[in-house]
Amino acid sequence: MTATSDKFATCNLCEAICGIVVETNGPHIEKIRGDADDPFSRGHICPKAAALKDLHEDPDRLRHPLVREGQSWREVSWDHAFDLVAERLRDIQQRHGESAVAVYQGNPTVHSLGAMLFAPTFVRSLRTQNKFSATSVDQLPQMLAAYNMFGHQFFLPIPDIDRTEHFIILGANPVVSNGSLMTAPGAAHRIKNIVRRGGKVIVIDPRRTETAEIATEYHAIVPGTDALLLFAMVNTLFAENLVNLRHLHAITVGVNELKAAAAPFPAEKVATKTGIDADTIKTLAREFANAERAVVYGRVGICTQQMGTLASWLIVALNVLTGRIDAPGGAMFTKPALDIVGMGLLSRGSFGRWKSRVRGLPEFGGELPVSALAEEILTPGEGQIRALVTSAGNPVLSTPNGKKLDEALSSLNFMVSIDIYKNETTRHAHVILPPTGPLERDHYDAVFHALSVRNTARFSPAVFPKPPNTKHDWEIFAALTRRMSKLNNKRAARNFAEAAAFQWVGPARILDLGLRMGPHGGKLSPFVGGASLHHLRKNPHGVDFGPLEPCLPERLPSKDKKIQLAPKLFVAHVPRAAIALDKQPSSELLLVGRRELRSNNSWMHNSAKLMKGQPRFTLQMHPNDAQKRHLKTGDKARITSRVGSVEAPVEVTADMMPGVVSLPHGYGHNRSGVQLSVAQKHAFESANDITDETFLDPVSGNAALNGVPVSVELLHQSLL
Ligand code: SF4
Repeated sequence: MTATSDKFATCNLCEAICGIVVETNGPHIEKIRGDADDPFSRGHICPKAAALKDLHEDPDRLRHPLVREGQSWREVSWDHAFDLVAERLRDIQQRHGESAVAVYQGNPTVHSLGAMLFAPTFVRSLRTQNKFSATSVDQLPQMLAAYNMFGHQFFLPIPDIDRTEHFIILGANPVVSNGSLMTAPGAAHRIKNIVRRGGKVIVIDPRRTETAEIATEYHAIVPGTDALLLFAMVNTLFAENLVNLRHLHAITVGVNELKAAAAPFPAEKVATKTGIDADTIKTLAREFANAERAVVYGRVGICTQQMGTLASWLIVALNVLTGRIDAPGGAMFTKPALDIVGMGLLSRGSFGRWKSRVRGLPEFGGELPVSALAEEILTPGEGQIRALVTSAGNPVLSTPNGKKLDEALSSLNFMVSIDIYKNETTRHAHVILPPTGPLERDHYDAVFHALSVRNTARFSPAVFPKPPNTKHDWEIFAALTRRMSKLNNKRAARNFAEAAAFQWVGPARILDLGLRMGPHGGKLSPFVGGASLHHLRKNPHGVDFGPLEPCLPERLPSKDKKIQLAPKLFVAHVPRAAIALDKQPSSELLLVGRRELRSNNSWMHNSAKLMKGQPRFTLQMHPNDAQKRHLKTGDKARITSRVGSVEAPVEVTADMMPGVVSLPHGYGHNRSGVQLSVAQKHAFESANDITDETFLDPVSGNAALNGVPVSVELLHQSLL
């Protein structure tokens, strides 16, 4: 009989990066629990952590390279698969140009140190302009705001949730997400603490969310109108002399331009559009300005709407106008042990250097908006995408008009997927290269420690050894880079050398160097303590370097060391918001998404633990809207948008704002060729089969997944 042992690890399933204890018995997992000694997550976990066991043991998880021939798949050697991929991609590029090969990187990329370090060199080796990722169905507007206001796309202000007294939350549900662009494990507890210490928590959302349930105040807002509300709050601050930049005065430019931009939006004018009355809007602004420690925070609901960039800009602007940026209890910046911004490990960003071929959508940070991917594959002509590399992504379920993308993928000349599953997207691949699972590789959160509400660091060695004849994601990227770089030109030679050197060094040594040279590191001296891999290995529960500290202007990445309060790009789009004030309200219902505790996009639907219980794929709607359509809970409804229809059981709830309906996304596992046996039993439909690839934020090109006009009709009555 083998003895059980505890291994300290990190749950990498969401941004909260909770410390976990994996009780192992030989190659088996007995149990997963929260690590009570973790100084950051303090034992917190959500139900998803336990499902890491399902993921680790999943018989559907792929372990060896597969090649598709027609509808059948066969296992091949790694070398055969790598050679085949490189040959096909190179052949297509030689015949049709470099950009005929596109890349899509999914969300899990940022949860893997290996992928973070090695994927960029591989992507560079392709020399394509057709790069896409999950960024443009998520946080792109917030990164664009950071780029234009602070000078770096990843210099993102983080709500100092543990010290604030006044927390305004728009389009986010941290009780369920545990924070996003605000790594905050146990967010519910942290939010309750704000209330316990006499503070206010105000949620503004079309749905009374789980966070609204524990807030002190909730306001329903019409989807897509957050920018109007925020403009009116800015307008009120100026009108009532509540602007006080405090310590930011000397480093902020553009105050007058922002004042002028907000002038057309007095609270009285935006009230009917937003659904929030003028007095309430003014009170929101006044109380925010007068609170001792306050912060406004917005997330995915703010970004994925037609005015996503304007809303993201105005959230930062409100925090600047009241001196909350870089102030305890406000919106602060991390000083992470691996300083991805300060050490220049991530690029500052870029905007509009090129545009998508068909619709002219702008590049941001080297990527194009994924809403353009299907048309770039389907539209013939020079520059048409003919091959695709996907990595850790399922855009068929997670990007707008997934059905169109599904069709587009089936027309590709060649597709390769680096993925552990044969899912709705990767079923189209000709080759699948499956990396090791999350418990089989070392783990360090390069990105999420940099977005955390405290300065923390945790290195988790692999819980299980790498199984024989398997490869880590970074080994796959390095092998492909070397093969793709064999073309005889200087840049390729550099990529080749970089990949070879990186592979020789490996992620752990690169991390060690980064930690030593970072703000908490002891540099290269063996006699000085501080952050290093050795230090983190000696502290397996993680290290807490303390609360966020003021750091401006020293850490401000902008070249002039100023905060730009009114970037020209954003001001140019203000008239569009003004036009929205005069638009007639839509007679249709507006669709929004929602996040569930037991799900994370499409990732965890093959876990029996998480999928049990009541089906969560329901159309939530307000009783008045249901009554008008003769619908009741349990009835089956058809929901139709410009691009298609899906069916869903109705859930009547007063939590929804009248005129708004909600579906969770990430379902739709009923496509043939998918190998997800649990998910297929809970297939449902994909909400992104009715979101619209032409419905987007025109500034950034980010998908507007919220506020999509839909009609709802009864399909079948429930017999209950
Ligand atoms: S909140 Fe849940 S899914 Fe996210 S890291 Fe913690 S345990 Fe994992």
